[in-house]
Amino acid sequence: MYDFVIIGGGIIGMSTAMQLIERYPDASMVLLEKESGPARHQTGHNSGVIHAGVYYTPGSLKARFCLEGNRATKAFCDEHGIRYDTCGKMLVATSALEMERMKALWERTAANGLERQWLSAAELREREPNISGLGGIFVPSSGIVSYREVTEAMANTFRQRGGEIVYGAEVSALKEHAAGVVVHTKGGQEYEGATLITCSGLMADRLVKMLGVEPGFIICPFRGEYFRLSPQHDRIVNHLIYPIPDPAMPFLGVHLTRMIDGSVTVGPNAVLAFSREGYRKRDVSFADLLEMAASPGIRRVLQNNLRSGLDEMKNSLCKSGYLKRVQKYCPSLTLGDLHSYPAGVRAQAVSPDGRLIDDFLFVTTRRSIHTCNAPSPAATSALPIGAHIVSKVQELLETQTGHRARARPAA
Ligand SMILES: Cc1cc2nc3c(=O)[nH]c(=O)nc-3n(C[C@H](O)[C@H](O)[C@H](O)COP(=O)(O)OP(=O)(O)OC[C@H]3O[C@@H](n4cnc5c(N)ncnc54)[C@H](O)[C@@H]3O)c2cc1C
Repeated sequence: MYDFVIIGGGIIGMSTAMQLIERYPDASMVLLEKESGPARHQTGHNSGVIHAGVYYTPGSLKARFCLEGNRATKAFCDEHGIRYDTCGKMLVATSALEMERMKALWERTAANGLERQWLSAAELREREPNISGLGGIFVPSSGIVSYREVTEAMANTFRQRGGEIVYGAEVSALKEHAAGVVVHTKGGQEYEGATLITCSGLMADRLVKMLGVEPGFIICPFRGEYFRLSPQHDRIVNHLIYPIPDPAMPFLGVHLTRMIDGSVTVGPNAVLAFSREGYRKRDVSFADLLEMAASPGIRRVLQNNLRSGLDEMKNSLCKSGYLKRVQKYCPSLTLGDLHSYPAGVRAQAVSPDGRLIDDFLFVTTRRSIHTCNAPSPAATSALPIGAHIVSKVQELLETQTGHRARARPAA
């Protein structure tokens, strides 16, 4: 029996595994991942932004972990020789309504303890000649990185500290008993852990259900589609350019993102995905669709957001609709500048009463801890989230007599 079994080789699973083995160096640990390598889902299909913590409700886990994670991610990259760029973010208002909303964001950035600067239209244009707006907020601590590289470095560190990683191991059944959890994989392997930790992203609810526990939420997949700008536009912006988000919407709006490889992307939008791991428009899973249709929570989300949902779908199918959103603040771009780029799928937890669960969410049983809602800015926050899970493990171990002797904390 292993002391710990961890499921999920995205950035949350790897960060947790790496910090858990540092905390309990004598413990035996295995991480199981269904794909053939790390970061194959959300972690490897995102904007690569090291968020500063602009938007999140003051006092929430998101606000706290994002602020800590911004610094921790950069320090981790320094330690492991991973390229990142603290290029800063510009939030741009293009209408009187957005100027009003920007004032609320200005207050929020203060409450979240961020360094920032208010820019007039002229100051905005001086810093970003290709961007037009009525005003903006500049947040210097935002940056860019490849989260795939960060996750690979975490995986290497975990292995160097004695951890085991098994790729191609898709968990299909879980059975919790008084002394631990038995884990079955599709390939017929069986693992047993005194404590189980799941960080399974788009499958988070399904892993909880495998234990026979009603999770109290369902994962709703939202595809985020991008375009890459033509290479002659690689220097079109000096910073990350974000619109002012509608506070009623859970996503940040289509932004211009400088990527760490030097290219610039536009996106992501947020379209209901017809398959949990459906990266292309044509990907449909009837099992996933039936599950969504049967969920009162998802039905309510769709009813409450019918108009914006249909708008997103229309703009997903019609490139010129998508372009209009970017032209609001970057008018010189044309249809010919938008080239295809791989999409990502967000795992968003939805409550039975139709709420998009905003904050990070964890569920605990006697022998297991589950990461249930870890949407953006969870990549930025991965190090503090991992530390949080390790502290939850410690609490769990204190309730498990007999186990403490085996999984000794590091001195
Ligand atoms: C389009 C998009 C843009 C984003 N932009 C940003 C950004 O700029 N900055 C930021 O901070 N965050 C961003 N995010 C959010 C961020 O990418 C995610 O919050 C983060 O990657 C979540 O990591 P994870 O480890 O929880 O999930 P994942 O990376 O999805 O990893 C979960 C892993 O669990 C594995 N798994 C699932 N089920 C099983 C099973 N049964 N058996 C074995 N393995 C299993 C999966 O294969 C997967 O590898 C973005 C997300 C998206 C989709």
